[in-house]
Amino acid sequence: MQDIPVVIVGGGLSGLYAAFLLEQKGIAYRLLEARNTFGGRIAVAKYSDAHTVDNSTDIDQAESSTAFDLGPSWFWPDYQTQLSSLIESLNLSRFSQFEEGNMMVERAANQPPVRMQGYKSAPPSMRLVGGMAALIEALYARLDARCIITNQTVRQLSKTDGHIEVQSEDTFGHVTRRVTTFRAQHVLLALPPRLVEGRITFQPALPQNLSTQWQETATWMAPHAKYVAVYESPFWRYNGLSGAARSAVGPLTEIHDASTLEGNGALFGFFGVPAQVRQSVSDDVLKEHCRAQLVRLFGKQADTPIAEYLKDWAQDPLTAMPADVSGDGQHAVAPPSKPQTGVWQDCLTGCGSEWSAQFPGYIAGAIDAAATAVQSLPATVLSR
Ligand SMILES: Cc1cc2nc3c(=O)[nH]c(=O)nc-3n(C[C@H](O)[C@H](O)[C@H](O)COP(=O)(O)OP(=O)(O)OC[C@H]3O[C@@H](n4cnc5c(N)ncnc54)[C@H](O)[C@@H]3O)c2cc1C
Repeated sequence: MQDIPVVIVGGGLSGLYAAFLLEQKGIAYRLLEARNTFGGRIAVAKYSDAHTVDNSTDIDQAESSTAFDLGPSWFWPDYQTQLSSLIESLNLSRFSQFEEGNMMVERAANQPPVRMQGYKSAPPSMRLVGGMAALIEALYARLDARCIITNQTVRQLSKTDGHIEVQSEDTFGHVTRRVTTFRAQHVLLALPPRLVEGRITFQPALPQNLSTQWQETATWMAPHAKYVAVYESPFWRYNGLSGAARSAVGPLTEIHDASTLEGNGALFGFFGVPAQVRQSVSDDVLKEHCRAQLVRLFGKQADTPIAEYLKDWAQDPLTAMPADVSGDGQHAVAPPSKPQTGVWQDCLTGCGSEWSAQFPGYIAGAIDAAATAVQSLPATVLSR
């Protein structure tokens, strides 16, 4: 059994940032991540000129390929100042979402799409060079890799006298699944509250009202799916189009330019087709419909992307629970991050994005919730 002051469950942005802050304070920790990669909802598809496609956020290959966001694309530095300062301190480059020119609107299946004056977001939506995964890669590069373990799915937390036993299953292709137990003074839950409630067993059980509140907190964007089409160049721009579109026809309901600063053109769209319907259709068929829609909106050149990617978050059990599949996708109000009574008081803190009071569900929320959780660790942990 490994004995450490803090165990972090989850290696998305909130978990990695909590680890970053703990290292600055000199507090020992282990971070357990169920996937074989870091980033959680921050994921990119990587396209290289050699036409090898890497769908993972593989830290070692970040430099050699062009990244397209399958999760978040945007942040808003004008009011997300904590996130903006972090990005600056990590020396990451940012650029504005491309919004020059007209947009396309599709109102009905029996009407051709119309060209309309585009609009610019205010304050501007900003993107990161290298995709949002650049933030994950930069944070990871500053951490002690020995403290961070992938392919570790936390299944159970048990409260014993003065400690929490964290049972984690090695999910990397073992026939007999190995369970490791970590003994921690404090556990930071760096994943969506609904996943904590649905996938981790607590012994004894959490207070009922807290458990219900966590279960009812929708995981932002979990019901959604993103389609990305990559082109040699952003050909729509040469025709005065911004790449933005809205459609009541589908399958994509909202489309944006996703081109990189390095030169590849790309368009991405959010599906309007509900998650239950998407589940009954193959990815190939969905992509075919997306391509046809892009041709209707942007012309024949859209029919021949050099790469296409589709990520359905509703079908990813490390992001979505069944309740998310039928959810309305609205931002939930942040639930309490700690048990206020009972044996779990003072030894457990939620620090995933949904626990942020300021920006619940956003990447800025992941930073805010992690900082708040680390700041409020009990003195007994901080003094170790
Ligand atoms: C399609 C899409 C578009 C988005 N667009 C934007 C945007 O433009 N701007 C914005 O601000 N935000 C956006 N978001 C939201 C943003 O991605 C999230 O707020 C942020 O990434 C959440 O980070 P997190 O660390 O809190 O949670 P997550 O990223 O969900 O990380 C949780 C981690 O926990 C791991 N995990 C799960 N269960 C276990 C377990 N039992 N044991 C161990 N590990 C476990 C998961 O594998 C994951 O790595 C978008 C999200 C999606 C999906």
